[in-house]
Amino acid sequence: MAQIKLYNTLSRTIEPFNSLTPGRVGMYVCGPTVYGPPHLGHVRGPIVFDVFRRLLMDQGFQVRFVRNITDVGHLVGDADEGEDKLQKQARLEQIEPMEVAQTYTDSYNWVMDAMNVMRPSIEPKASGHIIEQIEMIESIIHAGLAYESNGSVYFDVTAYEKEHNYGKLSGRVLDELIAGAGNASRELEGQSEKKSAHDFALWKRASPEHIMQWSSPWGKGFPGWHIECSAMSAKYLGSEFDIHGGGMDLLFPHHECEIAQSTAAHKHEPARYWMHHNMITINGQKMAKSLNNGIKVSELFEGNHPLLTRGFGPNTLRFFVLQAHYRSTLDFSQEALEASEKGLKRLLEAFKKIDGVVPESESTFNTKEIVQNIENALIDDLNTPIAIAQLFELAKYINMASDKKAKLTLSDIDEIRSAVARYFGGIMGLNAQDRSDDNGAMNEVMDILIQLRSEAKQEKNYALSDAIRNRLKDKGIELMDSKEGTTWKIN
Ligand SMILES: [Zn+2]
Repeated sequence: MAQIKLYNTLSRTIEPFNSLTPGRVGMYVCGPTVYGPPHLGHVRGPIVFDVFRRLLMDQGFQVRFVRNITDVGHLVGDADEGEDKLQKQARLEQIEPMEVAQTYTDSYNWVMDAMNVMRPSIEPKASGHIIEQIEMIESIIHAGLAYESNGSVYFDVTAYEKEHNYGKLSGRVLDELIAGAGNASRELEGQSEKKSAHDFALWKRASPEHIMQWSSPWGKGFPGWHIECSAMSAKYLGSEFDIHGGGMDLLFPHHECEIAQSTAAHKHEPARYWMHHNMITINGQKMAKSLNNGIKVSELFEGNHPLLTRGFGPNTLRFFVLQAHYRSTLDFSQEALEASEKGLKRLLEAFKKIDGVVPESESTFNTKEIVQNIENALIDDLNTPIAIAQLFELAKYINMASDKKAKLTLSDIDEIRSAVARYFGGIMGLNAQDRSDDNGAMNEVMDILIQLRSEAKQEKNYALSDAIRNRLKDKGIELMDSKEGTTWKIN
């Protein structure tokens, strides 16, 4: 077992990773709030943590991987006020909130399966753990670090600050938070219930029209967003576990609040390592619904979005994510995906040739060293871009040996073959036999046909343009015309 090194957000340094129990790792990752179809923002985290989980398994650890489903308590605006995201969607779709949760949990898992992300060992739902959350809130009140106010319960950040450091994860300073909160937010509904503007809700009193509500020692209500992760991670991984993961957008307030809650209830911090992935930008811009640049994963697969002229397969998407280090931002664009698709294709084509390489008695290359570099990169804070660069080096060797421009011994060939299976397939979870992304060639052919058809139209040769459309249709390929041009799909 090699020594894995991991950047710990808590210490802001790369640390050697050692598990609490030898041979076992407990890992908790914040899952989706299931109120809408999976979008581009749901792609990176699951792939990054899946690769890290597979790396731990490759290194001989038994991993218990918990990823929750948030189906209650996450309010519009991500703070203590506003409507529950699921309830709002349920109202819009005129269905039960649990129908909303089920629909989007299913579509989320469908996307995860497509991207070859392993299912979690346990996938707990917030609504199924109300008792655990109530019990945890009671312990926090008992510790003197939370108070009831008008049927709601708030975490007392000021009291907590006396012995602990609220802000230790995010690096935020409480005084600045108070100044930042300002008077404007204090005037918001509910703020008067709080002793201080930065206190956050553990439990919210429900108004009668609120659909999702439960009985509690403080009356009918529902849990705050942050308490579910503290309660469920403790239930399934113990009050102290190895790794807590999530996106950098969750650092504050969500993870900061998790640390405060768990520390208040258990007298020690929950996770030893906090692992955060950076965000995806779109054409250099932050992803946001207000910018109207949210792309659904289904649109990405189908190419059915104004920013895309065609679809990209899940294997390409996974490769695209892994070409960047998880702590760097990743910029999404059609061009970037095309480049990834091209690179992936080059690797896949080289890997196909391995079986055809005739072994020689001596070798031109030091394959062992390259294979070792791949492992070294992965255990060094999950450096997938370097690992991929080394795989390209192996692909170059295969191509040269296949063209008789270099020599590989039988043991080199075996080494490359097992490296592809172990690192490319096993740990990075990429499909070495993938042919769906051969769509690249298909796309080029379709571009030619679409171009010919448009030329025929311009020359008013409608017999020919219609023939192209109809004969493609006979083969199950539909052309779709719009202002932006013509796209196609396979029916
Ligand atoms: Zn969480």
